[in-house]
Amino acid sequence: MSQPSEMENQAHVLFHKFLQGKKCTETLNAFRELCTELQLDHTDFQHLYQKLKGSLNYWKAKALWTKLDKRASHSDYGQGQACSGTKCLVLGAGPCGLRTAIELAFLGAKVILIEKRDTFSRNNVLHLWPFTIHDLKTLGAKKFYGKFCSGCLDHISIRQLQLMLLKVALILGIEIHVNVEFKGLIEPPKNQEKKTGWKAELLPANHPVTEFEFDVLVSAGGSNFIPNGFKKKEMRGKLAIGITANFVNRHSSAEAKVEEISGVASLYNQKFFQQLHNETGIDLENIVYYKDDTHYFVMTAKKQSLLKYGVIRQDQRETNALLNTHNMDKKSLLRYAHQAADFCTNHQLPDLEFALNHRGDPDVAMFDFTCMYRSENAALVRERHGHRLLVALVGDCLVEPFWPLGTGIARGFLAALDAAWLVRGWGMGTAPLELLAERESIYQLLSQTKPENTHKKVTLYSIDPFTRYPNLNLNFFKANQVSNGPGEGLIS
Ligand code: FAD
Repeated sequence: MSQPSEMENQAHVLFHKFLQGKKCTETLNAFRELCTELQLDHTDFQHLYQKLKGSLNYWKAKALWTKLDKRASHSDYGQGQACSGTKCLVLGAGPCGLRTAIELAFLGAKVILIEKRDTFSRNNVLHLWPFTIHDLKTLGAKKFYGKFCSGCLDHISIRQLQLMLLKVALILGIEIHVNVEFKGLIEPPKNQEKKTGWKAELLPANHPVTEFEFDVLVSAGGSNFIPNGFKKKEMRGKLAIGITANFVNRHSSAEAKVEEISGVASLYNQKFFQQLHNETGIDLENIVYYKDDTHYFVMTAKKQSLLKYGVIRQDQRETNALLNTHNMDKKSLLRYAHQAADFCTNHQLPDLEFALNHRGDPDVAMFDFTCMYRSENAALVRERHGHRLLVALVGDCLVEPFWPLGTGIARGFLAALDAAWLVRGWGMGTAPLELLAERESIYQLLSQTKPENTHKKVTLYSIDPFTRYPNLNLNFFKANQVSNGPGEGLIS
């Protein structure tokens, strides 16, 4: 048998380094290094994957190619040609931006993704529904992160999920630019000779991506970012104060024995919460505990107990004022979270030491879930001087999730697949009004989706919404309901 050449060995080393990358920039650099070593152009989206495959033809890489080839061969993607003329700008390298970008690449689109930060720093842990676990496994999750959902685990830290998706995205030829902030759209100019299309205003202002002309913008900028033209709908419920806390996981046998808590609602476990209240003064509505890279807790705490404990300094009528950092005592919050975690794990977790966040502080935070937002619409079309632009929202930017319910990433991924289906129709030339009506018909199901009311055969899930939603009525909205209306049309 012939020995691999030195160059091949070096490529294997670099590929391994890329697969093992634990940080965002480290992974991006490792990928560039690998491409340079193999003399591949990482922006050549049409050929990069095939060339990588050809160059890295040894067992470890082959196992990944088998997974990705199987996924790419799905008939929905039309052999990677369904959107071959489509150019997409994706905003945000959160899990939903990356997940959508991957689907667009499978459809054959040119995809550039921009992200304003250069770190993946969230320790917090996301609950995964069976379909998300299957979905990620078909993208080779285990090749990037061996521990992914082994046994009966059904969760992952946000940063691990981002890292995994980043790696898949790079392999599929998606151009990723970090430290680039989207500031707005630049409309195609009037009376132009060169027929320039839609572009983006970015920071830094002279970044090469400002020259990129695209016909699809996917906004996945998280809950604080909603692009112009979309209206937010406020869903105000009763006061809900969320607390998240992460503790160091030393992976000792004592820690391994402690049981996770997946959603103890007080309604069903009055005794447990009463006992916690009596013994500690901590009054919770629910608590979730996952053992992941960290010991992660998310709980909803009652205002009176936070006031009594001294976490909230002064009662205020306005939620914003109540939960303002100036009205919060950080030390008391740390004690509160520590004691709740200790009690709820029956004092079995030894040495509960706070993990640190990206600022180097104990990773504990308090969030307001009283008022949640969702966008009124999932997509719109803009047209200027003969240039059409499809704008689609995904992830938290579309619907803000209530973390303790653990529905966020599953609904985020459903919307990512729905957005990809929309772009597929766009790429294949379906009329915009028809597309938007269909997208809105699918969107109105999203907030009610649960594992129980989506199709059970998760292995058959694809971007085609019928594979996921039973009883889907694609004509729930008609084209005339999304057309130009006074200030409310989705085409402008
Ligand atoms: P995000 O993950 O928020 O990603 C949005 C990305 O867009 C970010 O990387 C951001 O930097 C980037 N961005 C924003 N604006 C711009 C711009 N103008 N230009 C370029 N890039 C931009 N969910 C849970 O279920 N449990 C939790 O405990 C939990 N903790 C969280 C903690 C924090 C601090 C945050 C922010 C979110 C948390 N979430 C949690 C929500 C969860 O992370 C999301 O539901 C999930 O990550 C999917 O979100 P996304 O991809 O839509 O957005």
